[in-house]
Amino acid sequence: LASIKTPQQDFDTAAIRQLDSAHFLHPFTDHGSLAEKGARVMVRGEGIYLWDSEGHKILDGMSGLWCVNVGYGRTSISQAVYRQMETLPFYNSFFNTTNVPAVTLAAQLAQLAPAPFKHVFFTSSGSEANDTNVRLVRRYWDLLGHPERHTIIGRVNGYHGSTMAGASLGGMAGMHAQGGLPIPGIVHIGQPNYAEAPKGMTEAEFGIVAAGWLEQKILELGPDKVAAFIGEPVQGAGGVIIPPPTYWPEIQRICDKYDVLLIADEVITGFGRLGTWFGSELMQIQPDLITFAKGVTSGYVPLGGVLVGSRVAHVLIEKGGEFNHGFTYSGHPVACAAALENLRIIQDEQLVNAVAVDTGPYLKQKFASLSDHPLVGHADSLGFVAGLNLVRKKAEHLHDCVPFDQALHVGMICRGYMFANGIIMRAVGDRMIVAPPLVMTQAQVDEMVDRIRQSLDDTLADLIKRGWV
Ligand code: PMP
Repeated sequence: LASIKTPQQDFDTAAIRQLDSAHFLHPFTDHGSLAEKGARVMVRGEGIYLWDSEGHKILDGMSGLWCVNVGYGRTSISQAVYRQMETLPFYNSFFNTTNVPAVTLAAQLAQLAPAPFKHVFFTSSGSEANDTNVRLVRRYWDLLGHPERHTIIGRVNGYHGSTMAGASLGGMAGMHAQGGLPIPGIVHIGQPNYAEAPKGMTEAEFGIVAAGWLEQKILELGPDKVAAFIGEPVQGAGGVIIPPPTYWPEIQRICDKYDVLLIADEVITGFGRLGTWFGSELMQIQPDLITFAKGVTSGYVPLGGVLVGSRVAHVLIEKGGEFNHGFTYSGHPVACAAALENLRIIQDEQLVNAVAVDTGPYLKQKFASLSDHPLVGHADSLGFVAGLNLVRKKAEHLHDCVPFDQALHVGMICRGYMFANGIIMRAVGDRMIVAPPLVMTQAQVDEMVDRIRQSLDDTLADLIKRGWV
């Protein structure tokens, strides 16, 4: 094991790739094309950097999968996990039992969450947490004598996980096209993506229009049929879609008007990513339920859950009796021990504040400077998420830019150059996105942006050679 810690360690990459291709079905992967190319084998992480089996050092602009908020290589987390495994590696929280890390973490989350959140339901992932939300909101309305309030409204291009309910709440066309999704009782409205707004409309106007689609949908279904609305404060997997500032307050107003429960999926935006503990604070909303996962343990151990606000908790606890839902690993002591140490680090190192007043604003300024590149139509960021659109022809206004033909997969070409230049950036169509670890310093922001610029130059040179620009 110790040898894995050495970046120069010799790995038989070809043999690992062969085994990988023979046995490991990867998530969201075309296995035919993976077998041809071979997977990149990651072997080590330290701070914001990763090393692969061939010794390449790569700056991880994506925090793994939006989760490694405190960076890699935190021995205090591995020690906390080790200690807990030695003491009590597992016990369930069914049948009137509990465990110390789970209780301590639940109490701490209740303190960190915006009022009035006092209760937590633990899961092992964001998907399970959103499945839990579906069960919770329907149970809530059942208990109040309104079982007809059953339908949940999500958004096109939203992402809420990969289980049957998670994928249904999300609005990813590619997911809905496979396996008969969405499941009944889940419908979708459009996303607040200003790039899709009618030309001439201001961002503020568009925010109100996009939120208005929720009111239209509620009226179309009948307010007495709608259980809840779910959305990510900033859409992540959809491509870092930062909504206009007018959007969320208007969504809140509409939910309040029709008594519809509001679920904020903060799997990405929780635990400091936007410079606040939760994105709901920044968006000035008071959701009834908050989904969390990823950053709660910085991904070191799987953990997710739902923060349950007083409106739902009160009904569930006072009127509910048994809630027939839960997982073997709900409140897993090892995962909760990892979370407690992770939260201590975030607090002691004041990472949330750093993103709010120091590195976040710095990233904004540096990232915006990429807008002068001939390939970049629009570059924007909020806290520690950022995205830029690759375009065939630039224009002053975002709506006048000419996009590439989607079939050319320019984003994937650009992603290849990013990797070659030692930076991980994700491509969502032709939108290139980052969500770096919250520990990234200003000097490292400079390094990241320099590598992005170099990769954009390389992409442009390639596209010119192909005759695509
Ligand atoms: N919700 C959001 C907003 C997410 O970004 C994700 C994962 N990317 C999920 C839910 C699902 O979480 P998991 O993959 O842990 O099931």
